[in-house]
Amino acid sequence: MRIVIVGAGVAGCVMARGLSLLDSVEVTCLERVASDDHSEAGTGLNVGPNAVKALTLIDPELAQNITDASFLWRNWRISLTDGTVLFDLPLSEVADGAGWRIRWSELYRVLRQAAGACVEYGCEITEVERDDGDPRKTKIAWTQDGKAHRLDGIDLLIAADGRYSSVRRIISGKVPVRNTGVAISRVLVPDTSNGLIDDYEQWFNGPNRLLSFRVPPNHIYIACAFPISPEAEITAQQKTREALRTAYTPPHAVPSAQARWMIDTVCSNVADTHWARMQEHDMLYRAADCNVLYLGDAAHGMVPTLGQGATQAIEDAANAVALIVRRYRTGQRDVASWLAEVEAVRKDRMRFVMEFSLAATDTMLAGADPIAGTKHKTEAPFRERLKALYRDVGLHE
Ligand SMILES: Cc1cc2nc3c(=O)[nH]c(=O)nc-3n(C[C@H](O)[C@H](O)[C@H](O)COP(=O)(O)OP(=O)(O)OC[C@H]3O[C@@H](n4cnc5c(N)ncnc54)[C@H](O)[C@@H]3O)c2cc1C
Repeated sequence: MRIVIVGAGVAGCVMARGLSLLDSVEVTCLERVASDDHSEAGTGLNVGPNAVKALTLIDPELAQNITDASFLWRNWRISLTDGTVLFDLPLSEVADGAGWRIRWSELYRVLRQAAGACVEYGCEITEVERDDGDPRKTKIAWTQDGKAHRLDGIDLLIAADGRYSSVRRIISGKVPVRNTGVAISRVLVPDTSNGLIDDYEQWFNGPNRLLSFRVPPNHIYIACAFPISPEAEITAQQKTREALRTAYTPPHAVPSAQARWMIDTVCSNVADTHWARMQEHDMLYRAADCNVLYLGDAAHGMVPTLGQGATQAIEDAANAVALIVRRYRTGQRDVASWLAEVEAVRKDRMRFVMEFSLAATDTMLAGADPIAGTKHKTEAPFRERLKALYRDVGLHE
């Protein structure tokens, strides 16, 4: 059997490693960037306890390797920039274990090492199509080091090529994007906070929000956010030091020591700060008429409010690997039925995660009241949803 995975990111590497263990299966993973590409070095990720749980269930060794490259995410605190604490939640109250705090580039390094020799780096895909001989199969062509390559008769093509998945666009059509009305930035800086910043925290000044946490080796990730009109671009003026200082400084109080350090740090790093708009796109796990599986960001785009992007890419891949390996080893080789099963296992779960992530963005929208909104997050309905988010990963011991 021939399996091709496009993208050695989060979902792609977990799939490549898991499926490579199957006898008589040829797995090829095609990755666009070079193996030492560090373009994501400037981002820290908080990966939810649900991903840790899902990956530990299917691949405890890989989960441990990621733990070794991470700090544990054990607590979530929300305050105002004047220091008033609104929400302070040990994750042990809503999850079966901790999450991870890790640099994105470190997560890729560990995952790519684990995916091993089936990953081909520096590949430029030139063609993806349904196969002429069997329309459920596909074919792919690419160039690598100036040489042209192709594979025909692919039994299963897995698109794990991320948010702007070209495989999904070519096979299943353009993916419409919805802007949420929030601008968000990211920057990673050496830790000069003298212990002010460590585990995952958020600070509000009106709906303008700072988020920060420490990641190994000794860096601090800061994300700024503020509301914008959903269709508007983020203007150059909104990214200036002056605008950012005003956005996060409490108008009638002194900023807390944490807020002051973050505001100063954000203002002195504007040149290295990357900005984007929060977006969502529709979920799709499989192509209608051929054996193409979409996983991770290629399958769904959600707002980053609950830190579920990479988290769900891991949950997707853990579920898909577990299911495919089980079916293959018991002789059930009908690929189309595997894909229907993956979709059945993931669809409602992902709808819940996307809706919950969007609902949790309420305190960041124009006109929002973060005090009332955060108070709701201390109440039973929100906590029950968090428990479902962090515990119900679809896999069983
Ligand atoms: C600033 C920022 C902060 C984030 N913070 C968090 C967070 O705190 N927690 C969290 O859980 N998530 C977070 N995310 C989201 C998370 O990074 C993504 O959801 C996650 O990486 C998706 O995993 P994936 O496997 O679907 O795709 P990716 O990890 O994006 O991997 C896709 C891979 O495919 C490759 N590729 C793309 N196109 C091609 C092609 N044509 N041919 C070959 N290869 C290709 C790419 O190079 C990449 O290696 C954040 C994202 C951003 C941008």
